[in-house]
Amino acid sequence: MKYITVIGCKKCRRCDSVCPTKAIEHIDGTARVKIIHEMCNLCMICVKMCPNKALKILE
Ligand code: SF4
Ligand code: SF4
Repeated sequence: MKYITVIGCKKCRRCDSVCPTKAIEHIDGTARVKIIHEMCNLCMICVKMCPNKALKILE
């Protein structure tokens, strides 16, 4: 099963609004990102736009 993982998020918050299914959320008390896998359709928009290459697809 494929899913998006977050490694090395720099908390820039640029991915906040790009997700069409609202599957990106910030961990409480931080700006670090977490992906709600059940809501993610693997469109790859966030993976392509993260300036820090912190979002990756795992298979
Ligand atoms: S764009 Fe990348 S570095 Fe910035 S908050 Fe999102 S996952 Fe983190
Ligand atoms: S791959 Fe697409 S649907 Fe999944 S978290 Fe990123 S922007 Fe949202």
